[in-house]
Amino acid sequence: MADGSVDAEVVIVGGGIAGLATAVALQRAGVAPGGRGILVLERHPELRATGTAMTVFPNGWFALRALGVAHKLTSRYGVIEKSRVTNLETGTTQVFRFAGNKVSDEVRMRAVGRKALLDALADELPPGMVRFSSKLVSIDAVPATSGSSEATVLRLEDGAVIRAKILIGCDGVHSVVARWLGLSEPLRSGRSTIRGLSVYPSGHGLKQEIRQYLSNGIRAGLLPISNTGIYPPSTWARTCPPSTWTWSVTPTWATSRGHHCCTETPGACSRARQPVGR
Ligand SMILES: Cc1cc2nc3c(=O)[nH]c(=O)nc-3n(C[C@H](O)[C@H](O)[C@H](O)COP(=O)(O)OP(=O)(O)OC[C@H]3O[C@@H](n4cnc5c(N)ncnc54)[C@H](O)[C@@H]3O)c2cc1C
Repeated sequence: MADGSVDAEVVIVGGGIAGLATAVALQRAGVAPGGRGILVLERHPELRATGTAMTVFPNGWFALRALGVAHKLTSRYGVIEKSRVTNLETGTTQVFRFAGNKVSDEVRMRAVGRKALLDALADELPPGMVRFSSKLVSIDAVPATSGSSEATVLRLEDGAVIRAKILIGCDGVHSVVARWLGLSEPLRSGRSTIRGLSVYPSGHGLKQEIRQYLSNGIRAGLLPISNTGIYPPSTWARTCPPSTWTWSVTPTWATSRGHHCCTETPGACSRARQPVGR
């Protein structure tokens, strides 16, 4: 463009799971053959590595399979068959089995490294499609004129200007795109968590199952993601469930937790006092 801006057919803001998966899907669907015309803007200088791991349920594996990346991950991460939930106040343990899929082992529940998942998606994209260190700061809709068609003009923190025919917001919880569209700001849930990953080079020897321990609004747990990795070795969550929370997994804990769940953020907790879906 004469004004120094760059033109793109499709701009996806955010190079997280949603942004990369959307880019892979558009490419596979032939929306922009060979990926030409698709640009993914990521504010960080590289793919995010924080968050250690995440549990992917069968629906996620169906999606990853459709995107052609499931096979890259299933060989590295074992199937999780069940979860043991121990209430430390009553001493009771409940065991929950995760439904298996009769069609294929590929779509059964597993925990995967977040970075490995992002890498698996990003590897499907041509070099340069993800533009790093590219933080979107403002969006303007420009109506069509006699010389040019309607466009969305994106301004980045580094001064770059991009004109997009299609803008897709995958920029996470504090999305600039969502704000521009007039969607409401996210609400603080009142829950906090600490995650980590412990690596045992000689193997940890634990069963491939989730262990959770509940007490007084705090949940700790561990989840082996492979023979050598445990996620998260120490997690706690002082919970303040929203009114839509369902108690189906841990009914005793949820009811006994009652009103003292959110002493840290009492304002954010009022809705939790009338739980539904018990
Ligand atoms: C503690 C925790 C545990 C979780 N565990 C699980 C789990 O086990 N299983 C599960 O399925 N889900 C889990 N989730 C939810 C899951 O992490 C999210 O749903 C998922 O990461 C959302 O992906 P996303 O791509 O939409 O957003 P994000 O992962 O937030 O990615 C957004 C991307 O956009 C970029 N970005 C933001 N703003 C801009 C901007 N202005 N310009 C350019 N780039 C920008 C960010 O840098 C980021 O890379 C968990 C969430 C949390 C907090």
